[in-house]
Amino acid sequence: LYKVATAALSPANICSPIRTILRGQKNCQVVMAEISGIDVTNQRLFAEGGYVTYDYLILAAGATHSYFGHDEWATIAPGLKSIEDATELRRRILLAFESAEYEGSEEARRAALTFGIVGAGPTGVELAGAIKEIAGFTLPRDYRHIDTRTTRVIIFEGADRVLPPFPPKLSARAHRDLERMGVEVRLKSIVTNITPEGIYVGDEFTPVRNVFWAAGVRANPLGQSLGVELDRAGRVIVGEDLTIPGRPNVFIAGDLAAATSADTGQPVPGVAQGGIQMGRYAGRTIAAETAGRSTPAQRKPFVYRDKGSMAVIGKAKAVAHIGRFQLGGFLAWLLWGGIHIAFLIGFRNRFFVLLVWFWNWLLNSRDARLITGAARLDIAVPRPAEFIRYEAATIETDCSSRNEKH
Ligand SMILES: Cc1cc2nc3c(=O)[nH]c(=O)nc-3n(C[C@H](O)[C@H](O)[C@H](O)COP(=O)(O)OP(=O)(O)OC[C@H]3O[C@@H](n4cnc5c(N)ncnc54)[C@H](O)[C@@H]3O)c2cc1C
Repeated sequence: LYKVATAALSPANICSPIRTILRGQKNCQVVMAEISGIDVTNQRLFAEGGYVTYDYLILAAGATHSYFGHDEWATIAPGLKSIEDATELRRRILLAFESAEYEGSEEARRAALTFGIVGAGPTGVELAGAIKEIAGFTLPRDYRHIDTRTTRVIIFEGADRVLPPFPPKLSARAHRDLERMGVEVRLKSIVTNITPEGIYVGDEFTPVRNVFWAAGVRANPLGQSLGVELDRAGRVIVGEDLTIPGRPNVFIAGDLAAATSADTGQPVPGVAQGGIQMGRYAGRTIAAETAGRSTPAQRKPFVYRDKGSMAVIGKAKAVAHIGRFQLGGFLAWLLWGGIHIAFLIGFRNRFFVLLVWFWNWLLNSRDARLITGAARLDIAVPRPAEFIRYEAATIETDCSSRNEKH
């Protein structure tokens, strides 16, 4: 997603229709519908205009952003959870440079070229590095009035280190890499307010025109309609067979589940592997029981196999924590790329992404620089019209040098 948000990949490169993924599975039907509620007593799912009954249910509706009670920040500081979010971020990043090109004052230009990212988890770190790279290597030759290399990227993180879930050594490595790329890292900085003009950490104000949210995650509200206990992030607290209390036919999987691994007692992290492994466990359990090979009483508890964590910071810069191994730099970056490509769905996507990444790596290019949606930043700070300059004189000079009359 963040590669789409920073114009390195097109949305089609990372997606595949669910119908196509499941077309070989003849006993599976795909219905495009938004589930609005669940009645576990009568075993019904409600969608617009009707309902569906079930014998077993696997609920895996994922998570969304949490603005910690400040939902009004959402329009100023969008997060990155879906393809729509990614194209919106791409629009805002590219428009920032467009608007900076014609700002009338140095102050306004500086503001337009300042990006703030709230949260230094993998998403925040990846976004910060990518914006710095696009500004430093991809764009400089495309603009006439601004030096995109002067772009500021500031990360605000409440904890005392970046990538808090990683071992401290890798956090330190990522911090160093970010600073070497010119990203400003502000630790122990809990954002208390976000306005179109900038970010407040307590009384300290930083003028930032473009803010992206990578801080909080909240489970999908669908979990609330189950009528069972939720944790602080709204995730459904499940038993060791991933079902809810008193309903052995209702499984919760992925980011929506607050599950623990039976062997370690540790919470299952909200990552893709957690979702994949829970989904497999629930699917196999249901298949065995409907085939009469097992019963709910014979279920083995769910065990999560931690396959490691990775975060990419920039070109040839990443960190990886796999079992006892802690890696940083080029090797971690190669591993990160390889694994992300391997887990894409469809040979075509894997092949194209590999090709595009190689091309981008070679030429520092970002070829998906499409501005979709409105061509103006709707949250732009209001300024008097005369502040915006269209440098006619400069344009004329450029044209006359090619002997053209304008
Ligand atoms: C920017 C970003 C980067 C990430 N990077 C990594 C990474 O590098 N490695 C990693 O392991 N994890 C990563 N993650 C986390 C990973 O994507 C999630 O843990 C994983 O997608 C969770 O899977 P899920 O099936 O629970 O939910 P999702 O993948 O969110 O799927 C939920 C689905 O349910 C659908 N849905 C929601 N509500 C309804 C409804 N009411 N009716 C019908 N359908 C509904 C949604 O449209 C969606 O398709 C990243 C996440 C983000 C946002």
